[in-house]
Amino acid sequence: MSAPQPTTAYPAVPADPAALDPAVWTSSFRREAPEGGLAVDGHAATDLAAEHGTPLYVFSEDTFRARARDYREAFVRVLGGHGHEVSVYYAGKAFLCSSVVRWAREAGLNLDTASGGELAMGLAAGMEPERIALHGNNKSDAELTEALRRGVGRIVADSVPELLRIQERAAVLGVRAPVMIRVTPGVHAETHEFIATAHEDQKFGLSLARGTAALNRQALEAEGMLPPEAAEDDSVAMLGALLAEGLPDVDLRGIHCHIGSQIFQPEGFEEAARRVLAFLAELAGRIGRELPEVDLGGGYGIGYVAGDDPRTPEQLAQAMLRTLETAAAEHGIAVPHLSVEPGRSIAGPAGATLYTVGTIKDVVVDDGPVPVRRYVSVDGGMSDNARPILYGSEYTVTLANRAPQGEQVACRVVGKHCETGDIVIRDCWLPADLRAGDLLAVAATGAYCWALSSNYNYLTRPPVLATSAGQPPWTIIRGQTVQNLLDQDPCL
Ligand SMILES: *Cc1c(COP(=O)(O)O)cnc(C)c1O
Repeated sequence: MSAPQPTTAYPAVPADPAALDPAVWTSSFRREAPEGGLAVDGHAATDLAAEHGTPLYVFSEDTFRARARDYREAFVRVLGGHGHEVSVYYAGKAFLCSSVVRWAREAGLNLDTASGGELAMGLAAGMEPERIALHGNNKSDAELTEALRRGVGRIVADSVPELLRIQERAAVLGVRAPVMIRVTPGVHAETHEFIATAHEDQKFGLSLARGTAALNRQALEAEGMLPPEAAEDDSVAMLGALLAEGLPDVDLRGIHCHIGSQIFQPEGFEEAARRVLAFLAELAGRIGRELPEVDLGGGYGIGYVAGDDPRTPEQLAQAMLRTLETAAAEHGIAVPHLSVEPGRSIAGPAGATLYTVGTIKDVVVDDGPVPVRRYVSVDGGMSDNARPILYGSEYTVTLANRAPQGEQVACRVVGKHCETGDIVIRDCWLPADLRAGDLLAVAATGAYCWALSSNYNYLTRPPVLATSAGQPPWTIIRGQTVQNLLDQDPCL
C-alpha cells in the first residue's frame, strides 16, 4: 500500500521521524543505541513496559525537580533581586502523590491543595502545614476545620458566605484564620490571547467589578454583618475584603486570582496583576493598610506539540516584575509579596505514557486531509488521558521500542473505550511498518492525566513509575487490579 498523502491542514511529515522535539520532550527523554528505542532518565521504555505492563505512566523525578527548581530560582532571582518577596506554590491538583510533595518541598516550593483529600496527602507526605494553601469554591465545614486545626498557611476564600463560615470555625477552634480572598479580575486567558471584560460568568471568586456587592449586601445586612464602610456600588471583592478585615478571627493576608491554564502569553497575567494592584490600592484607602500579598495563580503553558511556544520561568518572572513595579508606582503602594502557583508547567513535561499497539485498521476518509487514515488502537485511552475528549487537547506520540524509520503513514492513535471520541492523538505520522506489540510513548502527560483518570469500561488505573538517572525505577503510585474494582461492589 502506498502512503496516503495529506491534502490540507495536516501536520507535516517529520523530516527526521526519530527526532524528539525538545519543545515537547525534556532532556530526560532520549533515544538509545542500538535499536533507537526511547529511554527515560537512561531506562529503556521496553524494560519498563516489560516489567510493569502497559498502559504505564512514567514520571521523571529528574525533570520534575529541575522544573520546580527553575521556577523557584527564576522568581527568587528576578523579584528578590529587586528587593521583593516571592513564594512558589506547586498546584497539587496537576499530579499529587507523596513523592512529588517531597520533591516540591525540597525544591523550596509550597503546596496548593483544593480538597480535604489533597490536603491530607500534602500533610501525610510531610509538607509543613504553614506551607500549604487550601483552595476551593465549595469547601466543607470538615475541610475548613481540618485546615484550621492543622494550621495551614492560608485558606483562599471564594465567597462572602465562606468568609463568615471561616470566622465561625476559627472562633470555635480558638485560632486566627489566615485568609486570602480570591477575586475574578475579569481577565480570562486562552492559550494565544486573553479576553478582558468587566464581569466573569463563572463559579470561582469574588468579582472586582463595581456594583457587584449589591447581591450580597442584603444577606449580610439581615445577619447584622454588613460592614458600615461598605458602599452601595462597591464590588463584591471590596465587600468581602471589608468584611474579612472586620472579622475578629480572620487575618486577611492578601488577594488571589487565577486566570486560566495552558497560557503562553504573559499579557493576561500582566492585565490581571494591574487590576489586582489597583484593587489593593483602593482597599488600602478604605482600611488604612496595604495587604501584604498578591497571588497571581498558575496557568503557564507547556509544549504539547511542535510549534507550541511556552515562556521560560525567567521570562514570566521578568514580566511579573515589570508589571508589579509599574502598577505599584502608579497607585502609590509598595510592591506586595508575590505568590505564583504553577502546576502543569512543573509536572506536565516530567511524564510520558507508554502504550502497546493492538489493532491496526486502514479507513477510507471521504473529505478529510488524507485519503486513508490508519487507526492505531492502544491498550488505554480516555481512562488514562481524559484531556483529548474533555478539551480536544493535542499530544505528541513516538515509537518507543525502536527508532521509527522508513516510510511514514498518516495515523490516528485511539484508545480501547466504547466512545468514538476516545482519541489519544488525532493526527500524526507513524512508520508504515508499525505492528501490533510495538510500544508507543505519548509526551507531556505528567499533569492532569493520572489526576483525571477513571475506571471507564472497568479499565484499571495504570501505575505511575518514577525514574531518575543512575537509580532503578520505582513505583510512586500503584496501579489498580481488576480485583480492586470488583472489591468496590459490596453485593458481589
Ligand atoms: C489549577 C490551578 C492552578 C494550577 O494551574 P496550572 O495550569 O496547572 O498551572 C493554580 N492555582 C489555582 C487556584 C488553580 O485552580
